[in-house]
Amino acid sequence: MSGSVALVYDDSFLAYRHADWHPLQPRRVKLAVEEMGRSGLLDQAELVTPRLATDAELALVHDLDYVELVRKLGHGADLGFAHPDNPVFENMHEASALIAGGSLQAAELVHSGRARHAFNPAGGLHHAMRHQSSGFCVYNDVAVAAAWLREQGHRVAVVDVDVHHGDGTQAAFEEQPDVLTLSLHGKYFMPEVGHDFFPGSGGSEEAGSALVNVPFPRYTWDEPWLKAFDAVVPERVRRFHPTVLLTQDGCDTHLLDPLADLRCSTRIWPPVGRRFHDLGRALRRPLGGARRRRLCRGRGSAEGLDAALRRDDRPAATGPAPARPRELPAAGRAPGAHLARRGPRDRGGYRAARLIRGSRTWSGRPEPASKPTGGATQA
Ligand SMILES: [Zn+2]
Repeated sequence: MSGSVALVYDDSFLAYRHADWHPLQPRRVKLAVEEMGRSGLLDQAELVTPRLATDAELALVHDLDYVELVRKLGHGADLGFAHPDNPVFENMHEASALIAGGSLQAAELVHSGRARHAFNPAGGLHHAMRHQSSGFCVYNDVAVAAAWLREQGHRVAVVDVDVHHGDGTQAAFEEQPDVLTLSLHGKYFMPEVGHDFFPGSGGSEEAGSALVNVPFPRYTWDEPWLKAFDAVVPERVRRFHPTVLLTQDGCDTHLLDPLADLRCSTRIWPPVGRRFHDLGRALRRPLGGARRRRLCRGRGSAEGLDAALRRDDRPAATGPAPARPRELPAAGRAPGAHLARRGPRDRGGYRAARLIRGSRTWSGRPEPASKPTGGATQA
């Protein structure tokens, strides 16, 4: 990666923590940043302290009534909302608004030209909808940042390679022709549990001039995944002529991910990082002549991708990836469960595997919700 780089982070991100038993644990963010430090990547980055997104900024994507509800729930109001994917937690609004604020800062840094690349390792909460939480996501920081950039006059291309469909981000911009949402994700039925892989949307028929979905069948491995990526992403992004590239680099396509069933390895990341880098170079100048720019954020590590580019340029593995060495019991797979990973610090797979093991806390069934489950899908 060339040009100045900003990392938006401090330990206050760790407040986004649903519960002890919950699969999305914030320590994965800290582990990722520590790994960046050990690898020397932070020597090249400006460290920026995150700030809270304001209500007005959240309202770019979310209903203010929903924001107020999240605030009340996080401050102890027992309004009957609970859900095993999105349990209420203390200071839920503040913790969520901090992640959205971090992604906004990344957007501001890139927009202003202070950074050419900016990264929020806690971001990527792409399932949150206008008026409800979903899939471990309370506020959709991806959509908030994209919406803010759009307000500044940008054409924004959002490329989401997380294993789950970026449904919340898609929903936020379905009517917006100047924000491209392009998602590659698993989409398949799971007969053993009787429902689709979360969130179940994102079929290829969900398409438009600024909407692209690339669904993968279960057990897709490196080569077909990369082939589809190469067949779709560069051409569609270039055709859109974006001024900002916003990438969601979730690496839960990995074969060790306990909550998804693709079979990719860390070897997809060097070529993905290279493609994103090439696309960043091709960005159109926005009105006002600001420099071309790329915004990287959440659910993975642009820095990790860059490190992978430099360290591991080996081609993708040939043939199917090996079977996952350990399966969680079915009881541990909550419907709609979503386990996000931070970046692939790829050194032949070992580092990424270590991070994944480190965050594998979803070892059993969720505890009963601490609050009544009526209205379960909201917050
Ligand atoms: Zn995911």
